[in-house]
Amino acid sequence: MTRIFLSPPHISGRERDLVDQVFESNYLAPAGDMLVQFERDVADYTGFAHGVAVSSGTAALHLALRLAGVSQGDEVWTSSMTFIGGVSPITYLGATPVFFDLTPASWTIDCDLLEEALEAAAKSNTLPKAIVPTDLYGQACDHARLNELGTRFGVLIISDSAEALGAMQNNVHTGSGAHIAILSFNGNKIITTSGGGMLLSDDGMIADEARKLSTQAREKAPHYEHKVIGYNYRMSNLCAAIGVGQLEQLEDKIARRREIFAIYQRKLSRHPGLDFMPEPNDRRSTRWLTCLTIDPDQSALSTEELQEICTEADIEVRPLWKPMHLQPVFKEMGCRFVGPGHCEHLFETGLCLPSGSGLTDAEQDRVIETISGKL
Ligand SMILES: *Cc1c(COP(=O)(O)O)cnc(C)c1O
Repeated sequence: MTRIFLSPPHISGRERDLVDQVFESNYLAPAGDMLVQFERDVADYTGFAHGVAVSSGTAALHLALRLAGVSQGDEVWTSSMTFIGGVSPITYLGATPVFFDLTPASWTIDCDLLEEALEAAAKSNTLPKAIVPTDLYGQACDHARLNELGTRFGVLIISDSAEALGAMQNNVHTGSGAHIAILSFNGNKIITTSGGGMLLSDDGMIADEARKLSTQAREKAPHYEHKVIGYNYRMSNLCAAIGVGQLEQLEDKIARRREIFAIYQRKLSRHPGLDFMPEPNDRRSTRWLTCLTIDPDQSALSTEELQEICTEADIEVRPLWKPMHLQPVFKEMGCRFVGPGHCEHLFETGLCLPSGSGLTDAEQDRVIETISGKL
């Protein structure tokens, strides 16, 4: 029996041919036609005017925060339930993260909490420099409301859409209207470049600056001239070629992940105590990962027990993200947490199931039978 992974890369289109084209052109460099095309394709797909491809989602967020003017001593408000790559760039710039709870209705940042906190901060003149809402597990935040809050309080919104390429709210791509949005093309995301990320913005100046900062901040001169410090963050043309091929299949991958979710939900919901991640009426989640919670009072097995059973059967499952306000590194920094702690409850009871778009029916049956057999 072979191991079933959580969300492995799924290559099924023109990726190899496109990579071969790069070899033929000899543009094995962080420049070239594929890079230009990948940026254009992702921008067109998401509806943003500009895309800047970089080496990771973390790098994209670092650039985004720097371009939003985040610096030493600033606060950046963000979701507590997220991956560390969505938070560490805040600290790279010497700013302090403040962590917000999510709403159980969508598992994304609670905008009521945010509004209350913004009102209080406006009165005491302690508004954050930026807000980084996380589109969790393929689900768009309530960006319509976030954009309204950002405008009303004069705070920039930087959408961490790393997990949610293709997610929609009211048929508009997630992150639309934000100052900047970022994506990840890490190996486990819905499409991959084997590692990579992108910064999206409607502002051409932001895109130009991001491109410059990602390539060592060279000034326009025949020699190497520098007025500010930049980074070596640009995506390789070779990786971009994989991305061009992957993006062509994105809608199929979303359809398949949604189907996988629906099958798990249909076949496992009959067991008492199992609940699946909700999807509000105005959203289309990509169902990047199928997430469920297990109520220990109702279910025959706890989350840990189920996890052990799957691990023994060579099936990779994972707990949900451990909230950032519970992480030792942020506790030590004394970072604030705002909210009643819904995300703590999800962390204690939640599990992600194998969800890759390349998962076969037989593999999914094996996962379902392994779980059902013990419940
Ligand atoms: C994956 C991810 C990132 C970081 O992306 P990398 O490409 O791995 O650097 C940031 N935020 C969230 C929410 C993510 O899931």
